[in-house]
Amino acid sequence: MGAEDRLREYRGKRDFGRTREPSGRRAPAGAGPRFVVQIHDARRMHFDFRLQVDDVLKSWSVPKGPSDDPHDKRLAVPTEDHPLEYEHFEGVIPAGEYGGGTVIVWDRGTYEPLSHDRGGRPVAFAESLERGHATFRLHGSKLHGEYALTRFRGGRGDDAEEAWLLVRKGPGRTGGHGTPDPRRARSVRTGRTLAQVAAEGGEE
Ligand code: MN
Repeated sequence: MGAEDRLREYRGKRDFGRTREPSGRRAPAGAGPRFVVQIHDARRMHFDFRLQVDDVLKSWSVPKGPSDDPHDKRLAVPTEDHPLEYEHFEGVIPAGEYGGGTVIVWDRGTYEPLSHDRGGRPVAFAESLERGHATFRLHGSKLHGEYALTRFRGGRGDDAEEAWLLVRKGPGRTGGHGTPDPRRARSVRTGRTLAQVAAEGGEE
């Protein structure tokens, strides 16, 4: 399935004459795979965690955001695939539009797929996600180290809405700072807070 098909749901939810989010018509070049974590002050504040898999960003909504404490199990609910250039999106989605609210790029960088099967053999990352358990090492400006995404509900013929957990693996930072307050957090792109982006109407 090409990016055009995979992005149908993403495009169907949005009016690109009104929102400045990317439509995904361009396929940016560059070394991957990439990851991005955005903070999205929508109806409910949440973090959007996205991993590049081939030519799209696989996406999860993480209400409390990723933690660097291995004891924290963070709920992650899958959302539609996003285009690769969504990594750069920071601004205001108009009220009344899908996901209306302010978005900042909290962190981004590259990741190393680490998924393997029970016998320790490497597994293609996309396949590990389909199976419901993927491990990877993040190289971001804020997030570093190994994480796992594990599906605990739905998927594979189960009609329940899918739900996953995002957990820091390895030594991590127990008792560390966990996740910052989203209202005080700053964009890794522009240093701005959500309030500053909202006040500037998303203009850069
Ligand atoms: Mn969102």
